[in-house]
Amino acid sequence: MPVLQLDHYDIDISPIGTDHLRWLAAQEFAGIAVLTDDNTAQHCLPLIKEQLAVFQPHYITVPAGEKHKTLETCQHIWEQLFQAGAGRNWCLLNLGGGVIGDMGGFCAGTFKRGMDFIQIPTTLLSQVDASVGGKLGIDFYGVKNSIGLFRDPRAVWADARFFQTLSARELRSGFAEIIKHALIADVQQWQELQQITHLESIDWSEWVARSVSIKQEIVKEDPHEKGIRKALNFGHTIGHAIESYFLETATPLLHGEAIAAGMICEAWLSAKQLGLSKPKLTAITDYFLTIYGHQAIPEGIDELLLSTMRQDKKNEDTRINFSLIPAAGKVAVNQTATEEEIVGSLVYYRALG
Ligand code: NAD
Repeated sequence: MPVLQLDHYDIDISPIGTDHLRWLAAQEFAGIAVLTDDNTAQHCLPLIKEQLAVFQPHYITVPAGEKHKTLETCQHIWEQLFQAGAGRNWCLLNLGGGVIGDMGGFCAGTFKRGMDFIQIPTTLLSQVDASVGGKLGIDFYGVKNSIGLFRDPRAVWADARFFQTLSARELRSGFAEIIKHALIADVQQWQELQQITHLESIDWSEWVARSVSIKQEIVKEDPHEKGIRKALNFGHTIGHAIESYFLETATPLLHGEAIAAGMICEAWLSAKQLGLSKPKLTAITDYFLTIYGHQAIPEGIDELLLSTMRQDKKNEDTRINFSLIPAAGKVAVNQTATEEEIVGSLVYYRALG
């Protein structure tokens, strides 16, 4: 069973079974609570509920979705913990996607100045991205993840069986982070990935393990995002602006779908500024188009997209900050581009449709 041993905790990528339960029992927590959302209560909890029964857990369920990643939902979670008689020596199991992991971790990290928690990520995105790096939080004042903290879980249990009930679209969205990790750090992985054109036949445990180890290496060097951790933002400056735009339309994009378009644009910027070769740019572009197709980005919204990018919290001064790739498997942080160049990358993307 692949286990990544980190300084303070392990990421265990295997079906949850007796080893996990034995380990949990050995921690001698005073009590266990399990946090789910409506969907993971229905689809994921049944896979482990019987095994957990011995701990007589207290179950807390909240409505699913980013719009519930709020202080109001946290209040409900904290109230439930109080009603269950939870103390600092309890442990909260966060069974869900990135929303449950971020919010449950935040609630645990602040409850009575911090109780332990275990992340049990149930989406591909949360297994390869949200579960690693200790970032926890909620959305507040209209700003995503604006209230939160850094705190490590006691363990991460990544079980690929949960993907059986994920939609193909959700899986594809999470896959964008796997591609990103390869593109910024591992040319060998990038070469292997290009052989994968159908996501149905993937050995997810293997790819989650390989991808998570890249993110983990980067986070280890820079746990509080002061430098190299920004590498993980490749594709995210433009991708996040595209995601924000579509969020206000009748056809919102999933995070990975927007980031895939963002990575094409930022690969173009990488070619323009850092010498990413033309054949590499073409290979990257073609691969994203094969997996994600082409997203029509309306003409006339470039100024709106730029204004979102100007507010990006990664910017260190008035210039828009990028992490770009001089070659596949390499990354350069704290790059910038003029607004004309950014528009040029959008023009490149549109012309692919
Ligand atoms: P999510 O948690 O909203 O899950 C997506 C949807 O899938 C939800 O409706 C959920 O109920 C459902 N779901 C989850 N697991 C399921 C399963 N196995 N079967 C069926 N349905 C299932 O979203 P997400 O895409 O997992 O994560 C996005 C969140 O993660 C965002 O809030 C983002 O800010 C956060 N995030 C955090 C980090 C970090 O480093 N902390 C990194 C990336 C993303």
